Amino acid sequence: MKLTFYNTLTKQKEEFKPINSNKVKMYSCGPTVYSYAHIGNFRTYIFMDTLRRVLKYNGYELKHVMNITDVGHLESDADEGEDKMEKAARKENKKPYEIAEYYTEIFFKDMEKLNIDKPEIVTKATENINQMIEYVQEIIKNGYAYETSKGIYFDISKLDKYPVLSNRKLEEQIAGARVDVDLEKKNPYDFALWIKAPANHIMKWESPWGLSYPGWHLECSAMGRRFLGEEFDIHTGGVDHIPTHHENEIAQAKGATAKIPARTWLHCEYLLVDGGKMSKSLGNTYTISQLQEKGISPLAYKLFCFTAHYRNKLNFTFDGAAGAQKALERLYDAYLKNLNGTDNVENAIIEEYKQKFETYINDDMNMPGAMSVIWEIARNAKKSNKFAELLLELDKVLGLDIKNAQRYLAEFDKTQNNEDLPEDVKKLVEERTQARLNKNWSKSDELRDIIIAKGYSIKDTKDGIIVEKEK
Ligand code: AMP
Ligand code: ZN
Repeated sequence: MKLTFYNTLTKQKEEFKPINSNKVKMYSCGPTVYSYAHIGNFRTYIFMDTLRRVLKYNGYELKHVMNITDVGHLESDADEGEDKMEKAARKENKKPYEIAEYYTEIFFKDMEKLNIDKPEIVTKATENINQMIEYVQEIIKNGYAYETSKGIYFDISKLDKYPVLSNRKLEEQIAGARVDVDLEKKNPYDFALWIKAPANHIMKWESPWGLSYPGWHLECSAMGRRFLGEEFDIHTGGVDHIPTHHENEIAQAKGATAKIPARTWLHCEYLLVDGGKMSKSLGNTYTISQLQEKGISPLAYKLFCFTAHYRNKLNFTFDGAAGAQKALERLYDAYLKNLNGTDNVENAIIEEYKQKFETYINDDMNMPGAMSVIWEIARNAKKSNKFAELLLELDKVLGLDIKNAQRYLAEFDKTQNNEDLPEDVKKLVEERTQARLNKNWSKSDELRDIIIAKGYSIKDTKDGIIVEKEK
């Protein structure tokens, strides 16, 4: 069956054909590990996971790289402000590497809770410094970059076209980037490939340009080429990467290799909250643990994400998420009922559902459409083991771990009992979650002891916090 994706580069839906017939090479921009990833970030990783699953369902093998940004991502995408990692390290009075390790571990725990498959290759920026230096040297050698007292800058005027990915005009690009006037730069919109480290910058490496560190855009170009070669099939990220990060990755690749690195560029739209972007800098974020605290399981959040196409904005509300929680329970329930069902169902009906589902997922990953087929199956008056098998087969794309339905329903029952707790205990549980998020372990232990003293047990499980009255 034909598989199509909307390509941000060509601004149209295209039939997908990998460079090598069976193996898809793909690069995804990974998290900057200076803080907890929020559910907006995870919308983009859920989209990445669905893409992986759709490709596999279509019979492709994957070589998928995701990076961990542990140096060089400055506060603004356009080379302004402090390095996010270093700022967090100073605030938390830790080494940047400790910060990176801590948040990376939690990121992957959340990925696991969301049943997101780990890419074949996960690589940290700081593990690729030599390849990055070489990449900058090639860009310089080809005449696309120059040195200033601050670092090595890409010379945009050398390109035939910039921008190519966003529809922005260059003047808007400049305004959008809020670029400071830097008289050493040839053009205000030239961007840093390599940054000379001020004395107080902790993460820095010996390079032909002195003690310094890579720019964020350069990191992804070098890691993509190291593991996937000069040209690969797919590049993914959130829509905020279109105007600067990915635009600059393309510019760098043109400078180093004269090629656009990926053929198909896919971008996930924002998760909104109260109609605005959910983002760490705006302070309006929720983590997966905070959702669990309110009785929304990670996989219910995944299901919530399927209610909108990845290229449309999605507004997060707790009512919406609670609806998804109920829907997930209905789905698990339907699976279990069908598992023991004895009704006779013709194979043609199974095939029809399957075809409909495949048509939706292969049409630029239309997950709301795909879910409508799932609900048709779940609502079918007949109960048959064939439907249960079909749901398991289609779950290869959804990744809702339907085969463990029984276990989840039992866990949900327990976490939902949390809702019946007295207000003072509920408040203590919430305060404890907040303390844990702030890594205030002594406060968290103290609150646990108070909860226990009130006659309750408290357990942290994969699917949420379970608080029960001691018998
Ligand atoms: P960061 O860790 O900030 O580099 O972001 C990780 C990923 O999350 C990137 O692909 C971003 O584009 C994406 N992202 C950030 N905020 C949101 C949001 N509100 N909705 C969807 N994706 C987001
Ligand atoms: Zn990137």
